Amino acid sequence: MNIDIACIPGDGIGPEIVAEAKKVLEAVCRTYGHTISFTDLYMGGCAIDRFGVPLPEETVETAKKKAAVLMGSIGGDAKTSPWYRLEPSKRPEAGLLAIRKALGLYANLRPAYLFQELADSCPLAAKEGGRKFDLVIVRELTGGLYFGERWTKTIDGVETAVDTLKYNENEIRRVAKTAFEIAQKRRKKVTSVDKANVLDTSRLWRKVVHEVAEDFPDVEVSDMLVDNCAMQLVKDPEQFDVILTENMFGDILSDEASMITGSIGMLSSASLNETSFGLYEPSHGSAPDIAGQNIANPIATVLSAAMMLRYSFGLTKEAAAIEAAVRKTLADGFRSKDLMPRDPEEAKGLTEVSCSGMGDAIAARIA
Ligand code: NAD
Repeated sequence: MNIDIACIPGDGIGPEIVAEAKKVLEAVCRTYGHTISFTDLYMGGCAIDRFGVPLPEETVETAKKKAAVLMGSIGGDAKTSPWYRLEPSKRPEAGLLAIRKALGLYANLRPAYLFQELADSCPLAAKEGGRKFDLVIVRELTGGLYFGERWTKTIDGVETAVDTLKYNENEIRRVAKTAFEIAQKRRKKVTSVDKANVLDTSRLWRKVVHEVAEDFPDVEVSDMLVDNCAMQLVKDPEQFDVILTENMFGDILSDEASMITGSIGMLSSASLNETSFGLYEPSHGSAPDIAGQNIANPIATVLSAAMMLRYSFGLTKEAAAIEAAVRKTLADGFRSKDLMPRDPEEAKGLTEVSCSGMGDAIAARIA
């Protein structure tokens, strides 16, 4: 197969981690007899510097012609970067919101999986028999509070701000369907998360999710309030298979889920529309504090590339080969800086590697 994708390296550590994901993709293509080509595109701060806008038209047009987009991350240090002196609609993050909308990417998938090799990094209290969780958050991505009407004005001398949270049944139905389809391929359990004791949008959410559930009788569905879910993720993450939720709740819960795996540098994500097209990126940001030092952990981006092969190209074996190579690299004791235990006793037998060193180690273990 010829795999022709767009890449958005972006800002900060973005170019460094995307380079390693490309290296691993090239290795898997060599091993499995595919060809691969990459077209690099601008978005975020680097696009502001070059074109004056965070999302150039050409980026959207070229991305639309490809089967998938592999992204690094965008943005800079809000305190020091000149990008954050621009008005909000012209800042790097506006590019990300706009590309999701322009490409119709309404479902965001974030797996949170505890690699047994890293179980000691899991900040949760040890559980008898060890921790073992494997869940995926399906977050609605193009509706809700982040896309509603918003304004700030002074009313009768009082500065007032309003954000609007709006969902229609179609927006809920399509993402719910995605979540149930994913659950069918996993452990067949959907937990729908809302705030139905307070919000009208959540009551509509719950009603539509249960309508969709009728078409998936093999999948067990339950509801959970978002505050309880935040607690349960820490207390008992093993109970979850697929968590389905709206945009803002998903934003917060998926960061929480990422931390219980031990490092934010491990977590991949996919944003999908109703076709096989997807945008794949790590869950973390552009880490300006460590950019340019070749010390970032590229694993989240490498695993995002594996998700891309699975979801956009149907290359299951090749995706599994990448995941196995990551596991083998960790089992062989290779750790990027963020994964190195601070305690020298625990670090015994482990080898600290750079960002490119980690990419080399994973690529060498593709089988
Ligand atoms: P961040 O995820 O970039 O960094 C948080 C902490 O985690 C930092 O200490 C960083 O060094 C560390 N970290 C993150 N990824 C790492 C990796 N792969 N390896 C090792 N350490 C890693 O979050 P932040 O500091 O809040 O945001 C920085 C910038 O990223 C901001 O401009 C923000 O808007 C942007 N951001 C972009 C995206 C995206 O592109 N999708 C997502 C989140 C944040």
